[in-house]
Amino acid sequence: MTSPLYIGRFAPSPTGPLHFGSLVAALASYLDARSQQGSWLVRMEDIDPPREQPGAADRILEALEAYGLHWDGEILYQSQRSAIYEDTIEQLRQQQAIYPCTCSRKQLKPYHGIYPGLCRQKTDIPDIPYAWRLNSHDEVIEFNDRIQGHQSFDMKTLGDFIVKRKEQLYAYQLAVCVDDEEQKVTHIVRGHDLIDSTPRQIALQSALTMNRIDYAHIPVIVQDNGDKLSKQNLAPELPLDNPRPLLVKALQALGQKPPAELLKGQVEEIIHWGVTHWKLSNITQSSSVLESEL
Ligand code: GLU
Ligand code: ZN
Repeated sequence: MTSPLYIGRFAPSPTGPLHFGSLVAALASYLDARSQQGSWLVRMEDIDPPREQPGAADRILEALEAYGLHWDGEILYQSQRSAIYEDTIEQLRQQQAIYPCTCSRKQLKPYHGIYPGLCRQKTDIPDIPYAWRLNSHDEVIEFNDRIQGHQSFDMKTLGDFIVKRKEQLYAYQLAVCVDDEEQKVTHIVRGHDLIDSTPRQIALQSALTMNRIDYAHIPVIVQDNGDKLSKQNLAPELPLDNPRPLLVKALQALGQKPPAELLKGQVEEIIHWGVTHWKLSNITQSSSVLESEL
């Protein structure tokens, strides 16, 4: 079997239904993959039960279908993959790439979310609840983003991050790396709000000698007050019965220039136009786009 040159993915967390902001992210990763004859996978990132909403995963899949975003292969559900995440923790532990951290939220408060490495020297397994953190060695991590250009992040300013939480839940950063590797993902196109996750994921990928991935971070859609459209601020659910106007608006958010007649087209025609006219270079480098200006 030849290895495909492009495998992309959309990886929603089922914390609520899809909204316009998530449509823009899904569409960008879909069009970038399909315009390069790539595959496009969907992975359900359901590893944080307290934040999930019953039925959201199925509603997300229904919305993707209604908006003409048909995926390849089986959906991977992270909730079914604890065993492989645990094996990966064990491997990192044997390599001494991670260390147990017993710090409390209160203890870390003065550091404003940047973990100062207080437990880095710890090797013994504590007898109180603890999290596992990756030792980032304060490295500087660089990558070339296909939209944002050259990026450089000093891990000292991001801090050692958690790969398994005190509550025994696996962290997003860990699960995403394990699964992107398993699914042989070659390209990631996602929101700019995740750009500082990329150096963390690259740090994990190198600790685990995984394949490197190409990244492109697209602007997030924001309201007039600057808040990102999100499930938390109750961005409206994508209507399933009238997908065309929002699909065209999503193309505009991505700097593509759909002709006005496209609004009258079927969903399949809009998607087809998007694939054949896709220009990643038309996407703005800014981190956000105002919904009201579309
Ligand atoms: N599951 C993450 C989210 O919904 C996105 C993961 C990713 O694209 O890497 O924000
Ligand atoms: Zn600690």
